[in-house]
Amino acid sequence: MAEIAIGLHGGCGALAHDLQSAEDWAESRQHMADALRAGWHILRLGGSALDAVQATVVVLEDSPHFNAGHGAALTEGADHELDASIMDGATLAAGAVCTVRRTRNPVKLARAVLDSGRVVMLGGVAADRFAELQGLEMVPNTWFTTQRRIDAVRTLKEKEATGSFIPASEAEKHGTVGAVARDADGHLAAATSTGGFNNKLEGRIGDSPIIGAGTYARDGVCAVSCTGQGEIFIRRVAAYDIAARMQYAGQALDAAAHAVVFETLSSHAIGAGLVALGAEGNPVAPYNTLGMYRGWITTEGQLVVATHKDLHPMGPA
Ligand code: ASP
Repeated sequence: MAEIAIGLHGGCGALAHDLQSAEDWAESRQHMADALRAGWHILRLGGSALDAVQATVVVLEDSPHFNAGHGAALTEGADHELDASIMDGATLAAGAVCTVRRTRNPVKLARAVLDSGRVVMLGGVAADRFAELQGLEMVPNTWFTTQRRIDAVRTLKEKEATGSFIPASEAEKHGTVGAVARDADGHLAAATSTGGFNNKLEGRIGDSPIIGAGTYARDGVCAVSCTGQGEIFIRRVAAYDIAARMQYAGQALDAAAHAVVFETLSSHAIGAGLVALGAEGNPVAPYNTLGMYRGWITTEGQLVVATHKDLHPMGPA
């Protein structure tokens, strides 16, 4: 039996410490711990890595602290268009959805697309309609809105209008959530869900629903979920690049993930991060921004989360 493992990220656009109350920081850490426990519980009962990453991402989608589901970024037209994907490392089956507007948990819809076996990616109105047919919970678009995203879009628009030289912070701009897991049978899976970039063009699709760019999983190699400016992750086929480095160049997970974040993606001067898990060993979560929401459960069963440099032990899983 393989050792079970799970890791998550909540986006590399973490706020600066002083921009949020201690209670809000504590709540965001708690939601990450809840998300890890949801996935871990499934893995401990012998469930699949695919079910575990979905369960973890659902908790993060429902939390207002992360840019996915409730709390997602706003388009320049002031509504939400959500992207998500999920991949099974055992079979390379994948499901993805983009510009979804009414499905409460886009990762569940991505999973339904995967399970359908008919297509890999569905978009827009048809994707929401498919969700409805699958009996998934539907919500009005405003259900995803939080004051934090309204404020972020307002500042971004103000900066644009005044030609401000003060660059927008990573937190104002973006975020995403994702999870990677390995189950007791040694299978890997990855899932990613996002509202994309604040103030994004309507119809814009980032890397999160693109298999190989924002999400990738292959048994015996790695599972990866990315966060950062999607356009560059797509052009660099970032998640798959980690797998390719490991598979064809024999790099270790650490070295491959480090190179993709700090060399390949950083060379474009963008915020970038990811969580990844190798066929064996602990998750890695490199990022080049001020902070990245992230967490994992150690092989000793201890739960750890972090937003900036310091790690917060949260007790036994
Ligand atoms: N990758 C996401 C996108 O481009 C944003 C993020 O992860 O911060 O849509």
